[in-house]
Amino acid sequence: MAAQHTQGTLLLNEPLARYTSWRTGGNADRFYVPTGVEDLSQFLRCLDAQEPVYFIGLGSNLLVRDGGVRGTVVLMHNVLTGLRMDGDLLYAEAGVTCAKLAKFAAKQHRHGAEFMAGIPGTVGGALAMNAGCHGSETWEIVTKVQTIDRHGVLHERNKPEFDIAYRHVAMADGEPLREWFIAGWFELPQGEASEAEQKIKSLLAKRLASQPLNWPNAGSVFRNPPGDFAARLIETSGLKGYRIGDAQVSEKHANFIVNLGEAKAADIEALINHVRETVKARQGIELQQEVRIIGVEA
Ligand SMILES: Cc1cc2nc3c(=O)[nH]c(=O)nc-3n(C[C@H](O)[C@H](O)[C@H](O)COP(=O)(O)OP(=O)(O)OC[C@H]3O[C@@H](n4cnc5c(N)ncnc54)[C@H](O)[C@@H]3O)c2cc1C
Repeated sequence: MAAQHTQGTLLLNEPLARYTSWRTGGNADRFYVPTGVEDLSQFLRCLDAQEPVYFIGLGSNLLVRDGGVRGTVVLMHNVLTGLRMDGDLLYAEAGVTCAKLAKFAAKQHRHGAEFMAGIPGTVGGALAMNAGCHGSETWEIVTKVQTIDRHGVLHERNKPEFDIAYRHVAMADGEPLREWFIAGWFELPQGEASEAEQKIKSLLAKRLASQPLNWPNAGSVFRNPPGDFAARLIETSGLKGYRIGDAQVSEKHANFIVNLGEAKAADIEALINHVRETVKARQGIELQQEVRIIGVEA
């Protein structure tokens, strides 16, 4: 199953709780940390065609079930870390953190990426999720991307080749993403560096005041339904503080589920389902999940 002639690190039965912000979940059968894009390409090329493959960045939007992942997980965080100006565009590779991208853009006197400073994920994760906040979204500032397919072949793709919406990215034909992101080119207008840096500071302060950052969490669990807020619906359904095991609907921000210490992925998933069902019964609205769930039950 393991690819030959690769230079990265292949770990067997690796605990994924280490790589997710909820700090819980089972093990990956195989876990690969490539040394770079060529190595990644070689690894994918040599991999058994039947092997399921999952890419992760910082695992900040991810619940791994307690039984773990049957297949190979590829870690991108800190692997592809190129970050530079490419002519008038900002080029960032998938393993760069969103915070680093935002700060780099500001330093380069570029505006429009400040919102990314508080998103605790990678560029690859932000591209896959169309991550956003404070009225901005990742794909609004993207012009093109580089992707890699299951055979290790690289592609350069323009924005119209994707179907993009709020926290949604698919191929333009409506099919789920068939490739993984390697890098993105971002178009950002010029402006004052100090202005962008000031904006980053004030957006980070806002987050600190409104989010339960002292407990492991994965940010917003549900998408906001059109014209409303998931947090408001959850709070008015009386669910703030509701707990299953060590998984709790945050007292500070009702759309966050926090791990109070020993929460199992099954506790978190049961709480997600309980919140969805309760909001549906009390408010008549079916919340759509934003967090991704992978793996099998224990
Ligand atoms: C405290 C906190 C605050 C947050 N605030 C926000 C916010 O304001 N706005 C927001 O949108 N999100 C927010 N999030 C959620 C999360 O940070 C984002 O969704 C982020 O974009 C996920 O990036 P990641 O690298 O951690 O991706 P992961 O969680 O590792 O993966 C998420 C998904 O992306 C896929 N993926 C990862 N890398 C790649 C790649 N290179 N190519 C293809 N697919 C890939 C994974 O397979 C998975 O399906 C928050 C999370 C936390 C913990």
